[in-house]
Amino acid sequence: MTFPQVLGLHHVTAIASNAQRNYDFYTQILGLRLVKKTVNFDDPFTYHFYYGNYYAAPGTILTFFPWTHISKGRRGVGMATEVGLSVPEGSLGFWKNRLQQAGVIVNSPATKFGEEYLTALDPDGLKLELTVAKNVARDTRLPFETSEIDATKAICGFHHTTLTLSNIQPTAEVLTDILGYRLTEQDVNRYRFVTDTVTEAAIIDLVEAPGEASGVVAGGSVHHIAFRVQDDAAEMALREKIVAKGFHVTPPIDRMYFHSLYFREPGGVLFEIATDVPGFTIDEPLESLGTTLKLPPQYEPRRTQIEAALPRLIV
Ligand code: ZN
Repeated sequence: MTFPQVLGLHHVTAIASNAQRNYDFYTQILGLRLVKKTVNFDDPFTYHFYYGNYYAAPGTILTFFPWTHISKGRRGVGMATEVGLSVPEGSLGFWKNRLQQAGVIVNSPATKFGEEYLTALDPDGLKLELTVAKNVARDTRLPFETSEIDATKAICGFHHTTLTLSNIQPTAEVLTDILGYRLTEQDVNRYRFVTDTVTEAAIIDLVEAPGEASGVVAGGSVHHIAFRVQDDAAEMALREKIVAKGFHVTPPIDRMYFHSLYFREPGGVLFEIATDVPGFTIDEPLESLGTTLKLPPQYEPRRTQIEAALPRLIV
């Protein structure tokens, strides 16, 4: 039987500029695994990089469109402004040193909702928050390990994502009435919403900032966030709920590794619903994920042309 509910975050997609710099930062400095090297299905002369844990599990997948000549975006209202990544207890000192040594802009550890976190900016200015979950025993996701980052330090996947909004109410209603989240905590203008369907990648923070300027989605900002559902039946059940609430939502779109719906929530952030199936091993084995350029069938006849146009990536 289908479980017709949202299972936390599936992936977060952001915009980068230089592909090589993005690849080096996320694989070498943060130690994530490149789990899929493909192209933007709507713009096949641009890469689409997917980083995640070894298993490329939904809830660990941070993806990028590297557009070489993109201008720099600006954080502000109507966008996802923070990407929270879960790290093990006791690892923040390691991360602070590591990031500083790599020349990354990083703050001293701080605390919100009783959880310690470290803010760092990726090379394009995307705001990352390496966060130690309150109940550390809960993060059961197996991280990807590298020669420099073992499982006592490695990033496990998403902890939260933050949306900054001029008025949280309409977005909060989407989270609670459609997506099954509930408000659990509030601190000044930050409201924490959690889904009980999963124990990881289960948190969305809404920050209400009525005086703040609108954000500009470009380099270093989040393009959209995707919520996870089990399968197509769950996705279509959810689609009916979204339509019933009066939102314009796309039909299901085949993204090769998952099936997606998109709608813009009333606060301005692009939301996607993405299925667990078929998953990232549909076109290459688990052991060699991300090692060759994968194209969807519609672009395979143009492979030579596409490969020639993409920036060369040294791995
Ligand atoms: Zn997406």
